[in-house]
Amino acid sequence: MAQTLSTLAYLVASVLFIMALRGLSNPETSRQGNLFGMVGMGIAIVATLLKPGMGAGGIVLVLAGLAIGGTIGTLLAQRIQMTSLPQLVAAFHSLVGMAAVFVAAAAFYSPESFGIGYAGNIKGASLVEMSLGLAIGAITFSGSVIAFAKLDGRMSGSPIIFKGQHMLNAALGALLLVLVIAFVATGSPFLFWLIAILSFVLGFLLIIPIGGADMPVVVSMLNSYSGWAAAGIGFTIGNLLLIVTGALVGASGAILSYIMCKGMNRSIINVLLGGFGSDSGAAAGPGAGGADRAPVKAGSPEDAAYIMKNAQKIIIVPGYGMAVAQAQQVVREMADLLKKEGAEISYAIHPVAGRMPGHMNVLLAEANVPYDEVHELEEINAEFAEADVAYVIGANDVTNPAAKTDKSSAIYGMPILDVEKAKTVFFVKRGMASGYAGVENELFFRPNTMMLFGDAKKVTQQIVQSLQK
Ligand code: NDP
Repeated sequence: MAQTLSTLAYLVASVLFIMALRGLSNPETSRQGNLFGMVGMGIAIVATLLKPGMGAGGIVLVLAGLAIGGTIGTLLAQRIQMTSLPQLVAAFHSLVGMAAVFVAAAAFYSPESFGIGYAGNIKGASLVEMSLGLAIGAITFSGSVIAFAKLDGRMSGSPIIFKGQHMLNAALGALLLVLVIAFVATGSPFLFWLIAILSFVLGFLLIIPIGGADMPVVVSMLNSYSGWAAAGIGFTIGNLLLIVTGALVGASGAILSYIMCKGMNRSIINVLLGGFGSDSGAAAGPGAGGADRAPVKAGSPEDAAYIMKNAQKIIIVPGYGMAVAQAQQVVREMADLLKKEGAEISYAIHPVAGRMPGHMNVLLAEANVPYDEVHELEEINAEFAEADVAYVIGANDVTNPAAKTDKSSAIYGMPILDVEKAKTVFFVKRGMASGYAGVENELFFRPNTMMLFGDAKKVTQQIVQSLQK
């Protein structure tokens, strides 16, 4: 009876997790999606605690783990800046990977507790699942640690490339496969730990050649790996919910990686082979651009306010700098004032604007920007040609036409927002520095561009003040 109830509760939790993913696919329903996820997890925890054979000791251990992990998670979530979320996500993935390694070790050394056989005599199928969970978990752990270090600026975001790297990775991958087969045949503890060590090394080697600008794809891929590791472990310990949840995370991470690769016009193989985001396109310093460049035209917030007051159609293009400056609220205030002046306002969102998927949508939602004004790249790109103003606030790479024209550029092939087609383009940024991919943006030197130098929030506040006069 208790077993049936627990299975039923797991089923309800699984359905809620699926509804959570569905909700999260749209900003309007994302809060509801989060709520479904939380209720699902609550049901899963209670069902686990009530499982037959849990015992008082087990319950205390689960509650202690929840209290410690929950406290750390709550404190971190409260303190973390929005701009640091990608590295936090990478750090959390590393913990999922490590957890998979620990569960695999627990199942290996105490198989009777999991009903998969006895020490030295574990079922063959369980050994396969265990070794897969172990290998994927260890790769996820070390890969995520490197992703965290790169995103957090603790190591250079540039790709680390050496001769014969891909051959070495391929050889180590093949060796890992051989070790897994040998482990399943023998159940040897030595091979268990050899698989763990080799996988840690492989995770490290797989991520070091990947450049900064490809990191979002990598983080979402590691997310997918962590899901598959959990699903593998779910099979080992016979936990239905872990299998379903792991598969959901694995599949959604893989789909997100695919969507991002499409957004950057790159194949996943191309990303994995590394190199994107290298220093090949030198960063532009102040006054960069060489003698053949037209001089940069800088304007004041008052100039911008005057031009926008007389504009019919304005497209706002937010990027990473808006997140850094936390300018979303004041951007909405500016848009409200311009709407009163009769302008039509839309927001153009590039799939990889900011530092994590959906970064800009979250910020704009936080500032209560109406959802129907927010458009994805494909929907809005054609409209720049009819726009009077493109107000590019803290965005750079996602507008850089080198992606279309310069085959040698690190961002070549990435679809970009065609801001230059607007009659006037404002770039709000602090100086002439390049964006994340380190590639100079020639739009700064175009005749229809006006640079508004300064912090995104301060400049926009000054525009708001001018509009209110
Ligand atoms: P970029 O990194 O290209 O450019 C951001 C610009 O914002 C910089 O040029 C900087 O110029 C400016 N800036 C920084 N702080 C401020 C501030 N306080 N006020 C005003 N401006 C500021 O950002 P994009 O959003 O255009 O592009 C995202 C890039 O990040 C892409 O290359 C993408 O591949 C990569 N990426 C994306 C992730 C994602 O999932 N979305 C994750 C990881 C990387 P200045 O210093 O002169 O002010």
